[in-house]
Order: sequence, then C-alpha cells, then structure tokens
Amino acid sequence: MIEVENLSFAYPKSNILVLDNLSFSINKGEIYGLLGPSGSGKSTTQKILMGLLPKFSGTAKIFNQSIRHINRFFYEKIGVSFELPTLYLRLTALENLKLFAALYESKTKDPMEILDLVGLKDSANQRVGNFSKGMKMRLNLCRSLLNDPDLLFFDEPTTGQDPKQARLTRELILRLKNEGKTIFLTTHNMAEADEICDRVGFLTNGYIPVSGIPSELKKQYGKNILQVETKIKDKTKKQIFPMENIGKNAQFLKILNSNNIISMHTLEASLDDVFIKVTDEAKGRDK
Ligand code: ADP
Ligand code: MG
Repeated sequence: MIEVENLSFAYPKSNILVLDNLSFSINKGEIYGLLGPSGSGKSTTQKILMGLLPKFSGTAKIFNQSIRHINRFFYEKIGVSFELPTLYLRLTALENLKLFAALYESKTKDPMEILDLVGLKDSANQRVGNFSKGMKMRLNLCRSLLNDPDLLFFDEPTTGQDPKQARLTRELILRLKNEGKTIFLTTHNMAEADEICDRVGFLTNGYIPVSGIPSELKKQYGKNILQVETKIKDKTKKQIFPMENIGKNAQFLKILNSNNIISMHTLEASLDDVFIKVTDEAKGRDK
C-alpha cells in the first residue's frame, strides 16, 4: 500500500535532514505504527506521503503510484487526521462534517453515523469551540472517515483523550482495519502501539533502524526467563529460570509444588524498553 525508499527531507532554510534515507513499507490491510521520540520526524513523514511537502529526495509510492504525481483522485481515497485538529470552531460538529463532506466528489457517509462511532452523536449540534481537546480529536477523526477511504493517516490519534475515550478510539481503529482499511498511525504511547499495531517501526536519526511485530520485538529485546518469588518463614527470595524446557526443570518443579510461591513473571521486554534501547543505541551511533 505504501512503499518508501531512501526518503530524505530537510525543511526549507534548514540544513538539518529530518529524514535521512528512510525506507519502509506498509502492507494493505495492516495497522502500521510509526514510533519515535518527539521531533523525530513522524508527522513530517506523514505529511510528505500526503503530498504536502514536495521537496524530498528518494521515492515514495502509494497505491503503487509515485506520490510525485498526486492528483485529486488520490485525496478521494485517503483519510487524514492531523496531530492538531483542523476544524471550524464557530460551527457545530455536524456543520463541520457537512462542510468537509461537500469537498468530495465521490459519495460520502452520513455524518451522524460517523459521530455515533466515536460517541459524539449527542454533541452533534454543539459548537466545536466548546469541545474539550479529546472531543476535538475525535471529531477530527470523524472528518477523515467521511469519504470512506482505503488508506488512513492518523497522527497521534489518542492525544488529549481520557483512558475511556482513548479505548473507544483504539476500538474504532481496529474496527476500521477489520473493514479492510490500511492504517498508518503515529504514536508515542507504546502500550497503545503494542495493543493495536500489526507492525511498528522506530524512527530515529531520520530512519528506521528497527521494525517488526510488537510481540516479536518484545521477545527479541527481553529475556526469555521466568522470575519466581517465594516466601519461606517470612524470608522472600527471587529466583530465575530459563523458559526453555521449564517443565522438566527439577528445581523449578520442586518450587512449584512447595506452596511457597508469591509471584511468577516472565521477563519479556515491554515496547517501552525496546523504544528506549533503540533510541539509546541511535544516540550512541551519533557520537
Ligand atoms: P514528530 O512528529 O516526530 O514529533 P516532526 O515531524 O513534527 O516530529 O518534526 C521533526 C523535526 O522537524 C523537528 O526537529 C521539528 O522541529 C522540525 N520541523 C517540523 N515542522 C517544521 C517546519 N514547518 N519548519 C521547520 N522545521 C520543522
Ligand atoms: Mg508529530
């Protein structure tokens, strides 16, 4: 769906390469998460792919076509939810969506149905100026769904939302994937990426040194061991056992049958740990 090869980019009048030979691809029907520290170029990458920053070098293809030849047809097939909501504050939520829907040539969805998806149906006739940040973000997301696009760009889609709203948004993103859409999202929330992304890429120093399936990265960067905590006569003790053939480990089996266990944990890395390792390694390379 998206193929990026050796993409490099600097903002005008800046000699800093925000993107430096960036390569990655996104398959049809997957949720791809671009992760990386603040300022690493996540939003820039998305803006280039939407055709908003044309002065890049390298190649980028979407729908198997170079983005150097983007036309109106392209915008009919994508949906975009920017990091900062782009909405008319004096208009109501419904008026905003009707206005944006009118910009499309192809048939658009019923705005009320979309508002219902994100729990904003009851606020349809309220002015957006009175919305909380989380509500604006969700309305922003609604905007991207009007044209029922095949490919969605979500830049930090759960920013400013409380845990319940954020969960609603994540569920919506998963539902969109189940409808067959391809989703390219950025986030700095690793738990979120872990929960919903099929694949993630860590953007740092202008390129993606590490990418993969979250569960595999966590295994790769963590330790394949089990930590067992026991308590015998008020004395606690932590012991670790390799996960391999643990069912045949006599010492482990003895503890398991001892009735002294307080807790057991596998020590796989979290995506946070992977993020920190990858970005630290990148800093090391700079020196
Ligand atoms: P992220 O989304 O990962 O936080 P951005 O893509 O917004 O990162 O920014 C990447 C880098 O480009 C940052 O150093 C930022 O300061 C710089 N930058 C972003 N927008 C502009 C702009 N319009 N003009 C100049 N520099 C910019
Ligand atoms: Mg950003």
